[in-house]
Amino acid sequence: MSADASGRPGVPPAEDTPGADAAPAVDVASRLADVQAGVDAALERAGREPGSAAILLATKMQPPEPILQAFRAGYTLIGENRVQELVGKAEALSAVPHEAHLIGPLQSNKINKVLGLASCIQSVDSAGLAEKIQRRLEDRDAAIEVFLQVNTSREDSKSGVAPEDAAALARAVSGMERLRIRGLMTIGFPGETPEEIRPSYRELARLREDLISSGALPEHATELSMGMSGDFELAIEEGATMVRIGSTVFGARPKP
Ligand SMILES: *Cc1c(COP(=O)(O)O)cnc(C)c1O
Repeated sequence: MSADASGRPGVPPAEDTPGADAAPAVDVASRLADVQAGVDAALERAGREPGSAAILLATKMQPPEPILQAFRAGYTLIGENRVQELVGKAEALSAVPHEAHLIGPLQSNKINKVLGLASCIQSVDSAGLAEKIQRRLEDRDAAIEVFLQVNTSREDSKSGVAPEDAAALARAVSGMERLRIRGLMTIGFPGETPEEIRPSYRELARLREDLISSGALPEHATELSMGMSGDFELAIEEGATMVRIGSTVFGARPKP
């Protein structure tokens, strides 16, 4: 697959077909093959190891069936934004072994629901939230993986710790033995052009280097969860080890 001159991915978004709420409007397996080809090509362009960026499927608003199609195609890493959806789909998806992450904001009264169902929380953005997760895990004698979410676009509307406060958060969470930090996550800047989008991703990669070299993050916390349907190739060029893909694979999201 080729990227156009702007560096944007060559996979067109699926059409928003009226009345498509019930049946999946797209061939999930072939779209996944296209996305995988885009990931592979971006890794090669960036001189990175083949296979060094995972595809996480952002499944918000999607019913179980297209998600099961993705599982059958061999893609079993999913991310849900809302705890309610994580809980609601768990039984239907349990037929196939898979790994679920929480990629949306987490309210402390929902932590217990998440702990049984998600193996990773990508939205840890405050020491207070991390502390509460740690306490629930102590009660259960369990542990969980996390990403620290950073607000690289500095928009007030976005979750995530401010980049200048990330070191303090990393040090605090590193001290919580039941939370294993995999790395950093960001949503990035919702720009139109690579020039607008790239700096957010570059900043997250630089922040990881700084936090590891200063000892704020443990050495193993090298992962970068960044990049979505519209810009995942760019994110990979900037070092993403996990891209979060929704609409390019599943088509436009059904309306709530
Ligand atoms: C929806 C979502 C994505 C995927 O977005 P698409 O543009 O549909 O690929 C990625 N990350 C998060 C946090 C999301 O909420």
